Amino acid sequence: MQITKKTKLKGLKKTREIGPLGVVETLRKKKVTGRGGAGFLVAKKWKSVMDTKSDVKYLICNGDEGEPGTFKDKFIIMNNSETLIEGIIIAAETIGAKTVYFYLRGEYVNLRKFLENKIKKVLQKSNSNIEIIVVMGAGAYICGEETAIIKSIEGYRGQPSYKPPFPWQEGLWEKPTVVNNVETFVHVAQALCFKDYNPNLKLYSVSGSVKKPGIYEELSGEKLSKIISKAKPINKPKAIYFGCFGGCKPYKEMKLIPKTICGDDCVHGAASLIVADNKTSAIDMAYIISKFFTHESCGKCTPCREGNIQILLLLKKLRKGEATKKDFELLKELSLHIQETSLCGLGQTSTKHLLNAMKHFKKEFTDLLVKEKGE
Ligand code: SF4
Repeated sequence: MQITKKTKLKGLKKTREIGPLGVVETLRKKKVTGRGGAGFLVAKKWKSVMDTKSDVKYLICNGDEGEPGTFKDKFIIMNNSETLIEGIIIAAETIGAKTVYFYLRGEYVNLRKFLENKIKKVLQKSNSNIEIIVVMGAGAYICGEETAIIKSIEGYRGQPSYKPPFPWQEGLWEKPTVVNNVETFVHVAQALCFKDYNPNLKLYSVSGSVKKPGIYEELSGEKLSKIISKAKPINKPKAIYFGCFGGCKPYKEMKLIPKTICGDDCVHGAASLIVADNKTSAIDMAYIISKFFTHESCGKCTPCREGNIQILLLLKKLRKGEATKKDFELLKELSLHIQETSLCGLGQTSTKHLLNAMKHFKKEFTDLLVKEKGE
C-alpha cells in the first residue's frame, strides 16, 4: 500500500530545498488532489492562500471523518502518522502558517494522546517551529465541512456558512486558511518524496455484509467486483451504497471513478463502499440512513432540518404498511426539494440514497403501500 509507505521526512527535506513555489509546482505536476471528497487540486488551493496578503495564515487538518462506512483517516493516523504529520509541516511551511489545528473526530478520542505524542516527536525531529494543536470534535458530522470546522474551532456552534468568502480568502478568525483532509497530507509528503508517486491510488473503506471489512487501496477506475471480492461478501450482494452521501446502485460490475460512478447518479465521495446483501431490505437501509441525516442536520436551514424529519416519518409509515401512493409521491417530491434548496452538501445529498433506492428497488417500496380499491 502506498498510503503506509514511510517518507522519513525526505518530503520535508525536499520542501526546504525547493521552497514554497517549487513545492506548489511539484504538487501541480504530480496532480495531487484533495482526498476529502471534492477532489480539488492541492496546488491551486495552497497557491490561493499564498497569494492572499495577510500577516497571519492558518492550516487545518480535517480529521473529522464521520460518514458511516468511512474509516480511512483513522487507519492512516494509526499506521502512518509520521508521514501525515510531515505532510502537515510541509503545508504549513509552504503557505506560511505558524499555527495548525488538527481537528479530530470526537469519536476518535482514544487516538488523541497517541496523536499528540507523535506530533511532538515529528516536530522535534524536523526542527520545525510551527505549532500543531489537536482540537476534539464533539461528534457532529457537519463539522467535517470546511466552514463548519472553522466555526467549531473558533468556539461557535459548528454550522456551515455561505460562500464566498471562501476559507482561502477569509477562514479561521477571518484569516486566509487552508483546510485539507488527513489522507491529502500523506499524498503531499509522498509526492515530494517518491519519484514513482501515483496520484491515482485511492483508499476504499469497505463494510456492510462482508467477512473482511477494512481498508483496500486500489487504482481509481478499478472494478468494483475486484475490491468487493477481496472483502469476501457474506451473501450475494444486492446493492452498493457509496457511504451515505453518494447514493446507492444495484450491485453490478462498474468501474470506480472519482466524482462519478459510471457517469450517473452516484458519487464516489470519500470512497466508502457499503455492501447490502440480498437479505437486506432497501426500505430498512433507507430508514437507517435517513435517521442518520435527521440526527446530523445542524438545523440551520429549514429544508434539511424539517424535511429530513418528514422523510423519516414517511418511511416509518411505509414500514408499518400504512403509506399510500400519495405518500410515495410525496417522499419523492420532498427528497428532490431538500436536494435543491438546502444550504450545504449535507442537505443537498441527504436524500440521494433514497431517490436511488426508490428508482432501483421501486417494487420493494410499492409492495408495502396500502392497496387501493381495484388493485
Ligand atoms: S443543509 Fe442541513 S446541515 Fe447544511 S446548513 Fe442546512 S441544516 Fe445545516
